[in-house]
Amino acid sequence: MSLYPPDMALHLCCGVCNPVGVSSAVNSRQNQPVVVVTQPAPVPISLMCLRDSPGLICCPYCRHTVTTKVTYVPGATAWFLCVLLTLMGLVCGFCLIPLMIHRLHEAHHSCPRCGNHLHVYTR
Ligand SMILES: [Zn+2]
Repeated sequence: MSLYPPDMALHLCCGVCNPVGVSSAVNSRQNQPVVVVTQPAPVPISLMCLRDSPGLICCPYCRHTVTTKVTYVPGATAWFLCVLLTLMGLVCGFCLIPLMIHRLHEAHHSCPRCGNHLHVYTR
């Protein structure tokens, strides 16, 4: 049993069926201050600052701001360890372990837009 008459209880439950309530809700929303949050624009970094992950740069070839495409290739340290392990007698695939270690890979950065090679990051 409700304390309100049946038509008033209907308005309290959803608020949608009362057109006056809806318009006042819209008006109250328009009077509130509007807070606009903007994120700072991303700043491209120089080619020498590229590490082992993709970075935002201004491509010197096509002059577009792009995020570099990174290809990981085993570096000289990985190949040196591979030869060293082979000379130590670890020839049953164990000498290939340095080639699978991600930290021993070089990061080759290229532009995804024009495809030119941009930078090699060696550890
Ligand atoms: Zn480019």
